Amino acid sequence: MTKELYDLHDAPPLGEVPPKMHAWLIRPERFGEPTQAFQREVIDVPPIADDEVLVYVMAAGVNYNNVWASLGIPVNVIGARNKAGEPEPFHIGGSDASGIVYKVGKDVTSLKVGDEVVIHCGIWNRNCPWVKAGNDPMYSPTFRIWGYETNWGSFAQFTKVQAHQCLPKPKHLSWEAAAAYMLVGATAYRMLCGWGEHAVRRGDVVLIWGGAGGLGSMAIQICRALGATPIAMISSEDKRAYCESLGAKGCINRNDFDHWGMLPHWKDNAGYAAWLKGVRKFGSAIWEVLGEKRTPRIVFEHPGETTVPTSIFVCDTGGMVVICAGTTGYNATVDLRYLWMRQKCLQGSHFANDEQSIGINNLVLQGLADPCMSRAFTFAEIPDAHQLMYHNKHPHGNMSVLVGAPDFGLGISETDPHLADHLPLPPSDTHTIPPSPFPLSSPSALSTAYMSERLDEVELKLVDDGTLVKDLMHRGLISCGPDATLEEAAKTMMDRDIHALVVMEGDQAVGVVSQTDIVLARQGRTAAEARQLSARAIMTPGCASCDAGLKLTEAVSLMTGRRLHRLVVTEGGVPVGMLSMTDVVRKLLSD
Ligand code: NAP
Repeated sequence: MTKELYDLHDAPPLGEVPPKMHAWLIRPERFGEPTQAFQREVIDVPPIADDEVLVYVMAAGVNYNNVWASLGIPVNVIGARNKAGEPEPFHIGGSDASGIVYKVGKDVTSLKVGDEVVIHCGIWNRNCPWVKAGNDPMYSPTFRIWGYETNWGSFAQFTKVQAHQCLPKPKHLSWEAAAAYMLVGATAYRMLCGWGEHAVRRGDVVLIWGGAGGLGSMAIQICRALGATPIAMISSEDKRAYCESLGAKGCINRNDFDHWGMLPHWKDNAGYAAWLKGVRKFGSAIWEVLGEKRTPRIVFEHPGETTVPTSIFVCDTGGMVVICAGTTGYNATVDLRYLWMRQKCLQGSHFANDEQSIGINNLVLQGLADPCMSRAFTFAEIPDAHQLMYHNKHPHGNMSVLVGAPDFGLGISETDPHLADHLPLPPSDTHTIPPSPFPLSSPSALSTAYMSERLDEVELKLVDDGTLVKDLMHRGLISCGPDATLEEAAKTMMDRDIHALVVMEGDQAVGVVSQTDIVLARQGRTAAEARQLSARAIMTPGCASCDAGLKLTEAVSLMTGRRLHRLVVTEGGVPVGMLSMTDVVRKLLSD
């Protein structure tokens, strides 16, 4: 007789589905940090459609998407689904899982009760005309990420998924290891193998950002398995051995360079010259790792804003920069001259279709790719695992949580077929917070020859007349506290005839409220609502700053590179004044 509800580690008899289950739910009234948003509840097991299966979840993978789901930003996933006609007022997240099939829909022929599976997170409507016509379902308007854009993810005893999402679980892996790799692995596989003539080929050099991260660790292994030569980017030396053990030919530490971030404006000769110097130094580092002057045919991108200019520069003629995220920002800048003259491609990529998910799973099944599971948690720790991610303190590689599996290390039914031993992750290998939005490394002269030489011919005039920031800055800061209202901030700007206010919390400059911020804050709100907003809510967080002793030319490059109009000037780290573009223009006109 099926019970109403089974304890977490007390699996129901195979094929018997109880009416209720334990699950971690996010509800809109709890939106906030993961430890606040996630709450354990008992809930009805969902019914399944004809093309779906119900899987008893043994373990689930942890991904950043459900940090966003708990915060309720940038999208309220529950509200969005309610609007689309799905009534549930909650979200069960989880976009990676391993488990056992307990029930199959009537149209499902590929699976049976008892099958041990891993689940990929791509969902689409089989009746979509685009899909029916045999096109890539990743372009279907019905495409969704299961356990983020859809409900009933893997942070529950049962999850409902479309049959095609289920792939054979590698028998040499524990439940938790099997739950760790699919989302990042399939994403990396599509990026590297899904783009026609740009698919990775034997002998290709591939530059991989964040080599010790979830995506990067899978990308290194895919490249190696396909006979390419991966070079991994790292930010600390303790990741070097790890990336090399996965198959990287060598690593480059991004902290050895300082040219990161948006490109300086092309009219900013001094700034552009400094950037070119940096990017060329970076290119030389690639040659050094390779031991020969070759250029990456593929650059595997996800940091975005801070690294894209470099990625485009170092990518080979006719090569591809393939990107699936903009973790450091979305306003990437591109020197189009390199793109068109060298006929490079900047390719967007998002998750994967069935074929690509099968591609990564086959590599794992054969032991050619390891899930790189760095840490597994218990079911009770699901909010904590997400909280670690929220604070960017999670270990590198991939994380998972036990759900139905009663202990760690279970589920292995065959000998591990790994072809190579991987070094364990360094214990201290956690993210630094937050990723610096300002690491521009110097792009190399990889693509050197033609274009770089042409650029060398440009006469670069540095207008450094010895002026320092302190010679031009305004001493004293016009500021407000974080709790000042928009109305108070706007009034100060009008009264003092200035365009921006520094937001000070104690003696720390924590942000800037500019007139642009005020205009943006007014959008979608009544004037009365906008007036009451706090400076903290509308400010652009963080302050671009420079030391009073910096050369004026360098400060100008900093501003043009970040499309900023002002810098907070510091002395000994303490904010003491402001330098604005207006001051620079005045100087230029008076010289
Ligand atoms: P992760 O495990 O946190 O790894 C990210 C890596 O990026 C880190 O290891 C870090 O390595 C590197 N990094 C951090 N700040 C950087 C900076 N300023 N410049 C250069 N590199 C920096 O994350 P992940 O799982 O690999 O995911 C990466 C991004 O892809 C996330 O935004 C994720 O949401 C997105 N994603 C998208 C899809 C999709 O289908 N579109 C799928 C999966 C993931 P170092 O500090 O060692 O350089």
